Amino acid sequence: MWIPAVRKAILFAFIVCGQPYLDSERRDIHFVLPNAWAAVSSSMMPVLARLPRDYRWHTASLWVDGEAVDDAPVVVRRRWWEGKGVDLMASVDVSGLAPGWHILEAVIEPSEVGRNRKRTKKTEQTRRVTARFRVLPRQHRVSLRVVDENGEPRYGRVHFMAGDEALDVGNPYDVLSDPSHRDVPRTSVFVSPKGAAEFLETGEYRVVASGGIRDGIDVRDLQVDENTTVTLTVPRRIRTDGEVTADLHVHTAMSSDAFITDTQRFHALASADVDVAVISDHNRMRDPKPALELLGMVEELETITGVEFRIGPSGESIGHGNAFPLKADVRAPKPKNKAPGEVFHAWREHHRNHPIDGDDTPVLIQLNHPRGIQFRPDRSHRADAHSLFDELNFLPSLPLKEQKDERVRKYLKSKDKNFISFDAIEVLNRFSVEGWLAVRSDWFALLNRGHRITGTGNSDSHTVALEPVGFPVNLIRRRDDSVSGFVEAVRNGEVRVSSGPLVSLRAEAEEWNATSSHALHSVKGLVKVTVRVQAVDWVPVEEVRLVMNGRTIFRELVGDGPVDRSWELELDPKVDTWIIAEAGHPLEVLERPVGTPYSIVAPGHVPIAFTNPIWLDRDGDGRFSPTGEPGDRALQ
Ligand SMILES: [Zn+2]
Ligand SMILES: [Zn+2]
Repeated sequence: MWIPAVRKAILFAFIVCGQPYLDSERRDIHFVLPNAWAAVSSSMMPVLARLPRDYRWHTASLWVDGEAVDDAPVVVRRRWWEGKGVDLMASVDVSGLAPGWHILEAVIEPSEVGRNRKRTKKTEQTRRVTARFRVLPRQHRVSLRVVDENGEPRYGRVHFMAGDEALDVGNPYDVLSDPSHRDVPRTSVFVSPKGAAEFLETGEYRVVASGGIRDGIDVRDLQVDENTTVTLTVPRRIRTDGEVTADLHVHTAMSSDAFITDTQRFHALASADVDVAVISDHNRMRDPKPALELLGMVEELETITGVEFRIGPSGESIGHGNAFPLKADVRAPKPKNKAPGEVFHAWREHHRNHPIDGDDTPVLIQLNHPRGIQFRPDRSHRADAHSLFDELNFLPSLPLKEQKDERVRKYLKSKDKNFISFDAIEVLNRFSVEGWLAVRSDWFALLNRGHRITGTGNSDSHTVALEPVGFPVNLIRRRDDSVSGFVEAVRNGEVRVSSGPLVSLRAEAEEWNATSSHALHSVKGLVKVTVRVQAVDWVPVEEVRLVMNGRTIFRELVGDGPVDRSWELELDPKVDTWIIAEAGHPLEVLERPVGTPYSIVAPGHVPIAFTNPIWLDRDGDGRFSPTGEPGDRALQ
C-alpha cells in the first residue's frame, strides 16, 4: 500500500496537471466520476456526469451491474458556476458491492417540461452512458446505528476523527465531483434509521454522533481491527412542544452553485433534526417530493417549495429574498431593473397567478442576508455580496421618504410595493457574526419605527460540511399542521432563532400573558417578564440579554451547558415598547469556538439565540407609536 504522502503527491499531480477524462472542452455526455482510474474506497460513491446544454430538462436514473439503483435520486441541472454546462449528480451507496470492477450506467430521458420548453432532436432523445469503476474498500467495515433515548433508530450524523483532527473518510478523487471544493474532504456520514456503513483502516478513531440543537451527542473512542458494529445514542434532551424546527433557506443541487446530491441534502436535514425545510433554489421552484419518495423520507421531513429570488438584472444582483410557499415547476418572473418593492410585488402576483392546489396562503417574503454574506468561516464577511441595504445605502432608522436611493423611496403609499413590504428579515445567515451584528441593528431600527417584521436565522446551506443545515434554525409555534398554519406563524413573529442555545420570552400583565408574536398588548402598569434559557451539554451559553426598544437593559453570565434557567424581571415602560430576549455569544467577542464538541457539530458557528418581539402599547391608542430613538425614551 502507498504511504499517504506519496499518494497525496500523485493525486495532486493528477488533479493539477489534468488528464484526458476531465477535458472541459469535451462536449459529449461523459462521467467525471466515477472513472476507471479512481478507485472507490469508502461506502459512498459520488457521481458527476457532464451533459450538453439541451439535456438540461432531462431526468436520469442509474444502474449498477444491470440493476436499478432505486434509492438514489439523480439530479440533472444547469450549471453556471465553476464552468458552464449541465450536470448529472447522485450519491451511490457501494457498501454492499463486492471489491473489484463494476459498471455504472446512466439512462437519461426526455421530460415533459423539456419538450414544452424547447423541442430539438436532442431534447427528444433517450441516452445511455456507462462508466467502469473499481471498488477497493478500506480494510474494515464499520456498521453504524444511531438510536434515540429509547433505543429507537433515528437519523443522525457521525463525525470521524483521528486524534483531534477531522478524518477524511471519502475517496481520494471525490474532489472531482465537487468543483467548489466545499465538501472535500468528507469527514462525516449520515446515518438513517436503517443504519449506514463506512470503511476504515486498522487504527484508533474517535466518532461523534450528533443530531440537532435539542439533542445530546455521543462521543466514542474506537479501536478498529476487524469488521464491527457501533451503536451511538443521540437522545432528545430538550422538548419544545408545540414548536417545529425549520430552516427557511435551503439550497439543493437544483441551485447551480450547489454540488450537494439529493441523498446528502435530505439526509443532512433529517440528521440535523430539521422538521420543516423551505427549499429555496436560485430563481427556480422545485418539487422535492419525488426525491423524498425514493429516499423513503416523505414521513420524515416536511418540505415547502419556495425560491431564492434575485433583485436586479441577471448578472447584476443587488440582493436576494426568499418567497414561499410556491407552486413547483413554474417559470420564475424576471426581476429586470425593477425596484425591490416591485420585485416583492411581482412574486405576490406570481403566487396569485399560480396558486397551490387547496392552499390560499399568501406568499411570504423574507429578505435574505441584507448586509452581505460570509462565504466561509475562515474568510471575511463580504458586505458587497448581494447586500441590498448596502447597495441602496438604506438607513433603517430614517423613514422611507428620507432615503437616498430613489428605488427605496418608490411606492411609499403602496402596501405591497414599498421597500419594506417584506414579511421577514434574515437576521442571522450561516455563521456570520459580523452580518448578524449589522442586520440585528437594522432590524432593531425597523422595529423601533413600528415595522412588525419577523426576524429569522437560516443556514443558507449549499453543502454538507461548510454550511451545515439546521445551524441556525428557527423554532416556529405552528398553528396547525397545514402549510398555511406554518407560514402564518412565521409572518406573525411566532419564531425564535438558535444556533445552539434556546431562549424564550414570556410577558404578563394584569389581563393577559403572551409570548413572542406581532400582536400588540395594552399595558398600563408593570409587566412581568420571564426569560428562559435552555441548552444541551455541548453548547456553551455565555450570557443572556433582554433588549427593550433596541437597547440591552439586562445581561447576565450564564456559562456552559447543560442549562435550564429562568430570570424574572419587572418592567415599567413609559412609552410603546417592544422587547426581545437573546442568549449565547456576547456582542463584543468575535472568536469562534475551536476544538470543542460544539465546533465539531457546528464548525465555524458561534452559539447565538434570539426571540422575536413582544409588543407593548403603553399610550393606549391601539397602535405602536414609533419612538424613532433606540431605546432610551422607553426607560425614562
Ligand atoms: Zn442569497
Ligand atoms: Zn441562498
